[in-house]
Amino acid sequence: MLRLTSEQILEKIRKAFSPFHVVAELQDYHRKLGFRVYGENDELVGTCEGALVEDRHSGKPEAADQRTRATTCEARAKDFGPVVRRIGNSLGTGMMPVIVKQIWTANAYRNFNYLIACSETGEALAIDPLDHEKCLKAAKEEGWTITQILNTHEHRDHTGGNEAMVRKTGATILAHKNARDKIADMARGLSAGDVVKVGKTVELEVLDTPGHTMCHVCLLSHTDQPALFCGDTLFNAGAGNCHNGGHPEELYKTFDQQLAKLPPSTLIYPGHDYMENNLRFTLNREPDNKSARKMLDKLAGQDPNSAYVSTLEVEGEINTFFRLTSPTVIAKLREVLSRIAREA
Ligand SMILES: [Zn+2]
Repeated sequence: MLRLTSEQILEKIRKAFSPFHVVAELQDYHRKLGFRVYGENDELVGTCEGALVEDRHSGKPEAADQRTRATTCEARAKDFGPVVRRIGNSLGTGMMPVIVKQIWTANAYRNFNYLIACSETGEALAIDPLDHEKCLKAAKEEGWTITQILNTHEHRDHTGGNEAMVRKTGATILAHKNARDKIADMARGLSAGDVVKVGKTVELEVLDTPGHTMCHVCLLSHTDQPALFCGDTLFNAGAGNCHNGGHPEELYKTFDQQLAKLPPSTLIYPGHDYMENNLRFTLNREPDNKSARKMLDKLAGQDPNSAYVSTLEVEGEINTFFRLTSPTVIAKLREVLSRIAREA
């Protein structure tokens, strides 16, 4: 059987994905080589894994699964499964990465669940694991053990998987300190500035982000490219509503005083996929927003199994809630307000 080195495989994959930009990475927790595929504007369009495992005896890499490799070479970026992303690391730097798996639930609420794993121990934190079965399956595939559950807030579409997940894994539940009477069996109450550790290598900072509800937390990774797990506070091109226990002024403060101040490169991992609808909202408020128009053309009908991951910088261009000083947004709001005043 023809044995290829990792470099040769990478070369083949680069060719197959041209003109996409492919980066290889060693998934050291189970000795696999994975690949990230980037588009023209350096946006992540997909990842694939399982192309290679290291021979445990000789320590030399070998092509373990010819079929996987062949499929990988033929696959198109858009056909990939759940995106696994490693932040803060590239092959060979020796830096400890944060591993993120975004799980599309395909339910009516369009929830995203997340697993965040330690590359050294395989321990994982599940964020809002409503679809506990998909989360458990994903963890099993990766060889991870879920030891903690983090609820961003108390709504049922975020906490509904807790009970089954705890039953099957014994994981402990973490949530905002004021959610104790709203979330059953909470083991740890979180305050702003607390650190959530996952295994040995992952540390996530707790942000207290009221607005969608008054006990909402976001998690921020302190990686070279930070990542924000923002539940229903911030969506792609939108924000969570305040109808079920929230407060618009608090939400405004959270955006203005906390989110807007994070590094522009921060990756945005929201609790739902509402991007397409939200972009239409942006264009309704700001019909001349060219970035939102371009993004809608590009992402309409995207497969949420490999969803586009935005950054805070991108949100600054397409998210009305970060664009309250835009002359068009102000003019449109004036129009609406004067209409309400006339009708009153
Ligand atoms: Zn909610």
